[in-house]
Amino acid sequence: MKTNAGVISAAWAMFAIVAITFCAELLTTVALLYFGYVSDSIGIILTDAAMLAILIAPPIYWLVATPLRRENEKRLHAESRAAELGQLAITDSLTRTRNRRGITIGVLEAMAHAERYQHPLSVAMVDVDHFKEVNDKYGHKAGDRVLEGVASILVETLRMPDKVGRYGGEEFLLVLTETGLEQTTRIVERIRAEVGAAEFDIGNDKIKLTISIGATPFVKGEDLERLLSRADRALYEAKRSGRNLVVTTEGE
Ligand code: GH3
Ligand code: MG
Ligand code: MG
Repeated sequence: MKTNAGVISAAWAMFAIVAITFCAELLTTVALLYFGYVSDSIGIILTDAAMLAILIAPPIYWLVATPLRRENEKRLHAESRAAELGQLAITDSLTRTRNRRGITIGVLEAMAHAERYQHPLSVAMVDVDHFKEVNDKYGHKAGDRVLEGVASILVETLRMPDKVGRYGGEEFLLVLTETGLEQTTRIVERIRAEVGAAEFDIGNDKIKLTISIGATPFVKGEDLERLLSRADRALYEAKRSGRNLVVTTEGE
């Protein structure tokens, strides 16, 4: 597709150079004819102009368009590299979900959208239960694989516009756009059940584990800190009530 577009624009550039050269030569010869410096017939003038244009166009194209095209290619490459680096700066290298900075940007964007268009929005804090025991019993590497596994369940279970990021060590933040508390409860309950049912491959072994979730809706006018601390309190409540639980809190 890109190559076709390149061929088409090169053909247009070549055509434009031929046309401009042809017109310039024609005008010059007509002027010379007018002042009596040449006496060729109009047919010969037109043929000469056309042949000269066709001969001159390729070197002109090569001299002018090739460096421009190279510059353009370099610029496109630099732009895509910059976009890649920008993406890298907000991506968690272990789970390939957003990192803390990335998901914080995600919540702030979602809050601004919800505020402006009066749309519902909810967030959920997810924490792996007794994760330290996984590290202690099976090693840090196994712990890492579990985190990757949990992250991929979160990503697969959420819907397209929702966002997920690793907020801390074994803690993930979910941003559920266009979602009120009732629907959020259903979604995070499904996530909790999915993780609880999964078996996590840690190399020689497969293990099972659970997560706790605290979820809350965004309240118009509140700031990020207030929203997240309410989700945190709900998560704490889920932990305190025995883990492997979802606790949802109404906005205050
Ligand atoms: P709770 O049910 O109360 O959440 O208990 P917990 O053991 O999950 O929580 P705790 O805060 O006691 O331990 C979290 C552990 O997560 C401790 C830390 O070493 C581990 N951890 C944090 N980041 C990583 C990581 O990137 N990889 C691995 N393997 N472990 C991590
Ligand atoms: Mg934990
Ligand atoms: Mg934790």
